Amino acid sequence: MVKKLGLGLAVILALLFAASQIFKVQIGERLFGKAVATNFGNNVLADLPDGLHVILIGTGSPLADPSRAGPSTAVIAGKRLFIIDSGGGAVRKMGEIGLPAAATERVFLTHFHSDHIDGLGELMLQRWAGGGYDAPLPIHGPSGVAQVVTGLNAAYAQDRDYRIAHHGADVVPPSGFGGTPIVFETGMVMDDAGVTVTAFAVDHDPVSPAIGYRFAYKGRSVVITGDAAYSDDLARQAKGADILISEALNPDMVGVIESAAREAGNPRIAKIMADIPDYHITPVQAAQVAQDAEAKLLVYTHIVPALPTPYLNARFTKGAADKFSGDIIVGQDGMIFSLLPQ
Ligand SMILES: [Zn+2]
Ligand SMILES: [Zn+2]
Repeated sequence: MVKKLGLGLAVILALLFAASQIFKVQIGERLFGKAVATNFGNNVLADLPDGLHVILIGTGSPLADPSRAGPSTAVIAGKRLFIIDSGGGAVRKMGEIGLPAAATERVFLTHFHSDHIDGLGELMLQRWAGGGYDAPLPIHGPSGVAQVVTGLNAAYAQDRDYRIAHHGADVVPPSGFGGTPIVFETGMVMDDAGVTVTAFAVDHDPVSPAIGYRFAYKGRSVVITGDAAYSDDLARQAKGADILISEALNPDMVGVIESAAREAGNPRIAKIMADIPDYHITPVQAAQVAQDAEAKLLVYTHIVPALPTPYLNARFTKGAADKFSGDIIVGQDGMIFSLLPQ
C-alpha cells in the first residue's frame, strides 16, 4: 500500500515537472507580470505615518561585504526624503527597499571619501530619469562639494545627451539633469517647513572637512556621525537624540585581518589595516557617546570589518552594552526606524 502511494506520488511529481517544463514560458510570463506590478507598487514612503524615520540603505564601508551596500542613510521627515551619502550599490538597495530615487529631495554629504560618493552619480541620474525634474538635485556639503558634483555632472554629460535624444526633453528635461552643489559652513544648514538640519564638524583627520548631521522634525531627532573618530564633542552634538546612528570599527577584528595579511605576504593591506582604526570610532566608544548624550537608541552603521553573518555581531559589539544603558543595534541594509511626532 505504502509502495503504491509512493509510486503514485512519484508519477504526480513527474507529471507536474513535465507540465512546468511545457508551460515554462507561460509561467515565466505570469511571474514576470506579477513581479513588475508589485515593484511599481513598492513605495515604502507611501506607508509611513507622519514622523521622523530612518532607513539604513547601505551599512557597509570601503571593505567588500556582500551583504552591505556602501554607506548611505535615508532620513524621512513626513514624506520628504533626504539622503545622507550615497555609496556603491546604494541606489540599487533603494530599489530593493522600495525607496524611489526619484523621490529624493536633497542629498547631504558627510565628506568626500570615495565610499560615500561612489553611488552619487547613479542617484543623480535615477532621480532625474525617474522624476522628470526641471531643476538639478540639490547636494549639500562642506567645502569641496562643488568639485565632486561638477565633476560628476561632467562625467555624465554624454549620458545626459543620449537620454535626451532618445526619450525627449519632455520626459527628461535638460534643466533637471545632474546635481547642484550647495556649500555650507557648520551650523543650521536647512530650516524648512518644520524640518531642521544642523551640520557639525567631526574628527576624521586627515579628511577635512568631515561632517555629522542632526535632523529634527516634530519634536524628534536623529544624529548621524558620518565617519568620525571619538571626541568629547560628539556627545555634545548628539545630546538628547532619539537615535544616534554611529559609524563603528572594531580595532581588534581589524587587527586580526592585519596579522593575516602580513602572514599572507600582503604588506600593503596590512599597512592599510594598521592605519584605519585611528580615524574611526569603536563600538565601545560610540556606546560611551550615546550614554553621555543620553540618546535613546544606538545604531551602528559603516560596519568595519565586514560581518558576513549576524553570529559575529556579539564579537563586534563586545563591551558596548557595559557603556550604554539604552538599546544597541548592529545596522543592516533595509532596517527602518520610526519616530512618531511628540
Ligand atoms: Zn567611510
Ligand atoms: Zn571616511
